[in-house]
Amino acid sequence: MSKTQADAADPVWGSLDGLLADLESLYKDVHAHPELSMQEVRTAALAADRLRAAGFEVTTGVGGTGVVGVLRNGEGPTVMLRADMDALPVQEATGLPYASRATATDRNGQTVPVSHMCGHDMHVTWLAGATQLLAQARASWRGTLLAVFQPGEETAEGARAMLDDGLQKRFPRPDVVLGQHVMVGPAGTVAGRAGAITSAADSLQIRLFGRGAHGSMPQASVDPVVMAAATVMRLQGIVSREVAAAEAAVVTVGALQAGTKENVIPDEALIKLNVRTFDEGVRQRVLAAIERIVNAEAQASGAPRKPEITPLDRYPLNVNDAAASARLAEAFRAHFGAERVRQTGPAPASEDFGSFGTDWHSPSVFWFVGGTDPQLYAQAQAANRVHELPVNHSPKFAPVLHPTLRTGVETMVVAARAWMPA
Ligand code: ZN
Ligand code: ZN
Repeated sequence: MSKTQADAADPVWGSLDGLLADLESLYKDVHAHPELSMQEVRTAALAADRLRAAGFEVTTGVGGTGVVGVLRNGEGPTVMLRADMDALPVQEATGLPYASRATATDRNGQTVPVSHMCGHDMHVTWLAGATQLLAQARASWRGTLLAVFQPGEETAEGARAMLDDGLQKRFPRPDVVLGQHVMVGPAGTVAGRAGAITSAADSLQIRLFGRGAHGSMPQASVDPVVMAAATVMRLQGIVSREVAAAEAAVVTVGALQAGTKENVIPDEALIKLNVRTFDEGVRQRVLAAIERIVNAEAQASGAPRKPEITPLDRYPLNVNDAAASARLAEAFRAHFGAERVRQTGPAPASEDFGSFGTDWHSPSVFWFVGGTDPQLYAQAQAANRVHELPVNHSPKFAPVLHPTLRTGVETMVVAARAWMPA
């Protein structure tokens, strides 16, 4: 039997066509009503309603606004499917008819624009669709389905908040943890790999202490501007001189602040930087090199005090379990055909998804679903301009609805059932 015939006979897909219009309106609704990290009240209520209607036992308010649905369907493995719900403080510039015009108050009390420029609205819709299909076709699988709608991915808080709120004690331990992200790539395709899939990320704040003086009398100062400039330049040497060619790391200084006026030498300077790594050993080395350089440059400048290095946020490395990845790739190829399943490199993006598998000691797999118009993607590829397509977090990030919506529902259903016996 060909895969198409097998699929046609499969009860799980019977209602997908009929469900798509409803999922499209859910997507547009969530897209037009984005909520900042840890404020996902409306989105969480929509997710909970969907799960209840599909017959799940639903628990809300897990780790803030997190929602957990459990569907017990006889003896068998427990599979966790995860979607994140939060949006970003970005002014949307997609020009879409359902574009967000929302604003919200952030935790500093500032009014900021809000939009789903990372595509978590797609993730919510996919999981709502997949749970509904799996619930309707529960005669076609056995086991326990654990659906997790997570808050606060963009701030690296949500997974931790749910785990700290007793996720492991309150819900069955999954035999596998599965999650997906919409990304640049031809819509209708799925991309994955075994091993590291998204990078570890560490953000640091560094305060450099000098001694202020009149701009005309530098001899009376320890100039933190020069100290900061030398530090920033020296930090560039870590990746080029201390990380091997076959390893990978990123060190980006995203903020550099000092002084207020051209003729005043300030007291201190502030550096904020971000580190991405794909290996714990490399991570430790890069972080140690940063500390070494920051302290040595301060000493070289004659700083009156040691710099203060403060961790801001941290995302774990996401490592796809080898056996689980192989099982998943096989299931995807059987369902989509090999031409729609791509091998990808590790992405220098970061995710707190990995915390679930790590804390639960369960294998986990995370993969990417293409959201770019396939023709546009092919043209960009032919012109060597794929890097110019709007990526996640760009104000123009706009996944095409079809077939992206359908593909991400299919991947979740196929993935869940790869662990569930019929
Ligand atoms: Zn994001
Ligand atoms: Zn994201």
